[in-house]
Amino acid sequence: MNIHEYQAKQVLKSFGAPVSDGRVVTRAQEAEAAANALPGPVYVVKAQIHAGGRGKGKFKEPEAGEGGGVRLAKSPAEAAKFAKEMLGATLVTKQTGETGKQVNTIYIENGSDIETELYLSALVDRGTGRIAFIASTEGGMNIEEVAEETPEKIVTVGIDPATGCMPHHARRIAQALGLKGAAAKQCGRLIPALYKAFVEKDASLLEINPLIVTKGGDLLVLDAKMGFDPNALFRHEDILELRDISEEDPMEVKASEYDLSYVKLDGNIGCMVNGAGLAMATMDIIKHYGAEPANFLDVGGGATKEKVTEAFKIITTDPGVKGILVNIFGGIMRCDIIAEGIVAAVKEVGLEDPLVVRLEGTNVEKGKEILANSGLKITPADDLEDAAKKVVEAVQG
Ligand code: GDP
Ligand code: MG
Repeated sequence: MNIHEYQAKQVLKSFGAPVSDGRVVTRAQEAEAAANALPGPVYVVKAQIHAGGRGKGKFKEPEAGEGGGVRLAKSPAEAAKFAKEMLGATLVTKQTGETGKQVNTIYIENGSDIETELYLSALVDRGTGRIAFIASTEGGMNIEEVAEETPEKIVTVGIDPATGCMPHHARRIAQALGLKGAAAKQCGRLIPALYKAFVEKDASLLEINPLIVTKGGDLLVLDAKMGFDPNALFRHEDILELRDISEEDPMEVKASEYDLSYVKLDGNIGCMVNGAGLAMATMDIIKHYGAEPANFLDVGGGATKEKVTEAFKIITTDPGVKGILVNIFGGIMRCDIIAEGIVAAVKEVGLEDPLVVRLEGTNVEKGKEILANSGLKITPADDLEDAAKKVVEAVQG
């Protein structure tokens, strides 16, 4: 689960990280007073969406003005003008895709004088099984580009969970960031604070881009992005409260209500599979035969007829889906239950796209019989390869 920049800054501030003073605004009328409450003389007006690259982004609506989603205002009146332009408008950035994201919240922050922009993040390094910090002097820009073109400018510091964050970790990071004097000292406090926040809140990602050194020589968190492990949210009510469902894919939200693991993708073959491993294999084999999956969908081991029906509905309501592949290995899950779910769902939502079904395992004969007698246009498949070939052929003609 991701949260907004202003929320991430609040979380980090509660652990002692330095952030600027700011105000959250959801209505244009509130903006001028919000800016007036800040010391100024410069105010940064920042669109709050769950995507980066806002500064270089562009609004779809001409009324939103020429600037991107991060604008510097020289007066509270100008801050209010920017807020008014951005609220309700659609911001397109490198990370939003072409459709962009509607801006419903604005964060007005007291402006900072920037000396240098740095990059700092923390993540779970799956290779080492540790939390690692990634630091670079090349802040404020696309870190993927830095990694590709000048990988030597990126330093990774893994933290051994047995010792936790030690002063030498912070020193190495300060050195990698080229920090001296007061800023280096502040880094010595910042790194353990960030590590503590990451561990205590079960974060999966923390990205500060940029972390800046101000003209006054102080370290400051200028942008912040945080993501959390969804499996740990049950013990973080405070974080769960920060969830903004309007930022999430509506289909993924619906799927989570039914406890289905669903991730929307860009392809055109909808997949309904049981088990994450089989779902991955199904996506791979679709790609192998030259097509792209429209989603990852794992209905789980013990799905009911209702769950299967919902899963099917989610797939068919995706306008990108041009064909459906159902691949079920019946273990705990019986094939006849799956078959009944498919028939029930098709009767409810109709079926316009080709549907290929591969069933195997417990009660497979009964399942196949139900599908064959349903009168629905379903293409049966004997194995995974056969199923993938058939659905790709049906979609590509
Ligand atoms: P992003 O584009 O979504 O990553 O948004 P950021 O919060 O990182 O802001 C983008 C850029 O705006 C930063 O890299 C800075 O160059 C600039 N910026 C943001 N806040 C300030 C500020 O307080 N003062 C100045 N001078 N520039 C800022
Ligand atoms: Mg940024």
